[in-house]
Amino acid sequence: MDQRPGTSGLIFNEPQLWDKSRKGRCGISLPRSDVERSEMDSSLTGDAPDLPQLCEMDVVRHYTRLSQWNFGVDSGMYPLGSCTMKYNPKTNEVQAARQGLAGAHPLSGDQFSQGALKLMYNLEQFLAQITGFDAVTLQPAAGAHGELAGMLMIHAYHAKNGRQRSKIIIPDTAHGTNPASASLCGYESVNIKSGPDGILEPSAVSAVMDEDTAGIMVTNPNTLGLFESNIKEIAQIVHAKGGLVYGDGANMNAIMGIVKPGEIGIDVLHLNLHKTFSTPHGGGGPGSGPVGVVKALEPFLPVPRVEKNLDTYAFVNDCPDSIGRLHTFYGHFGIMIRAYAYILSMGGKGLTDASKLAVLNANYVKESLKGTLNLPYDKPCMHECVFNDAIQQQNHITTMDMAKRLLDYGFHPPTVYFPLVVDGAFMVEPTETESKEYIDQFIYAVKAIAKEARNTPEKLKNAPVMTKVTRLDEVSAARKPCLRG
Ligand SMILES: *Cc1c(COP(=O)(O)O)cnc(C)c1O
Repeated sequence: MDQRPGTSGLIFNEPQLWDKSRKGRCGISLPRSDVERSEMDSSLTGDAPDLPQLCEMDVVRHYTRLSQWNFGVDSGMYPLGSCTMKYNPKTNEVQAARQGLAGAHPLSGDQFSQGALKLMYNLEQFLAQITGFDAVTLQPAAGAHGELAGMLMIHAYHAKNGRQRSKIIIPDTAHGTNPASASLCGYESVNIKSGPDGILEPSAVSAVMDEDTAGIMVTNPNTLGLFESNIKEIAQIVHAKGGLVYGDGANMNAIMGIVKPGEIGIDVLHLNLHKTFSTPHGGGGPGSGPVGVVKALEPFLPVPRVEKNLDTYAFVNDCPDSIGRLHTFYGHFGIMIRAYAYILSMGGKGLTDASKLAVLNANYVKESLKGTLNLPYDKPCMHECVFNDAIQQQNHITTMDMAKRLLDYGFHPPTVYFPLVVDGAFMVEPTETESKEYIDQFIYAVKAIAKEARNTPEKLKNAPVMTKVTRLDEVSAARKPCLRG
């Protein structure tokens, strides 16, 4: 199956528009005007701007080519573990662009925003149902922002109970944003190690849990792509000492319709609408990180909240224990529309099937590449699987060399060197939207690269060779970006 989605041909050089400019060349050629020409007073207009002089085709080609330098999930498979780069159905974009929604103004007042408020209210209800929580806020603008909201609520809960605590337990398989969010709330992170099979052991939690610990932050499924199956017992240990359990639910696409985090001991959890609920992301674009909470934390949710009274919807600010406002107005409404459209078009069964497919696809990759790449935790995974370069290291080939070579085969590389618990991690999340054909091509490419690592390792050291720019100095590329083409 030597079919590569990529090709080395037809990659054009793209000089700057100024270099292509030719005096007198013009984008439009209209018939000569029959209105007499008169010069404007140049003291009013100033000098004409120094714009390149080009024909229409030059401009169209320039921007079309630049757009082709970009890689996105609309161009091909994007197996970036922990990021859920799945395909986003275009119908969600159509709904978000509807004039009544896209043109809604946040200052028009509740009375004239009933449709938008109803959408938000219903979306909160859907997410509460999917996660098993009592209440949801849609306000946080991203996953990490949701974590901050959750940690602020935990902080407010302990303050309300009369005694603030100083520490948070964070396992080594938590997402990197977790300790950062905890420390923004003034908590000190207590790191604990996961057990030999990649999940948390209750004994590790009970060894550190005390009455000065505000709670634990658990990423579930964790960053090894494994389900924390001791979560109920861990939650009991934390609750017994008065702590709370924060769940990082960014990986919800593995368990939608199958596990409700609110029913397994988790008190507060964020979702990533821009991962699980089908919104394009990457490039720092807008996201949305709703947070679900159990009843005990409901009073602390950010304001404004959306409430329904008979058939009328309203923003409510009168919540004395609230952690306050986290965002202007009510967060990223455009993302909420996409998630709402996605949930409605999928239905409950569709969401459950999506999770099953995400898990099936990841296990297919894991089983197919096991032996080609080293698999440190050899057990059924959830939506992603983590390999490393232990086999290729014998030929001095690293995860980075293989990731770079994948570009020559026409694939965006997976996540590399994360999670930190695995040395030289190579973390693949195929997602539920890739077909078997694409996944097979990816598997073929990785196997071909592993063969090169054995037979012609020097080929990998220079990779990529078929891309527009070849091996970059990663540090200089990040620190001294060349933004001028
Ligand atoms: C992506 C991710 C986050 C952070 O989400 P952002 O929207 O990028 O802030 C947190 N936890 C996990 C497990 C993630 O995958």
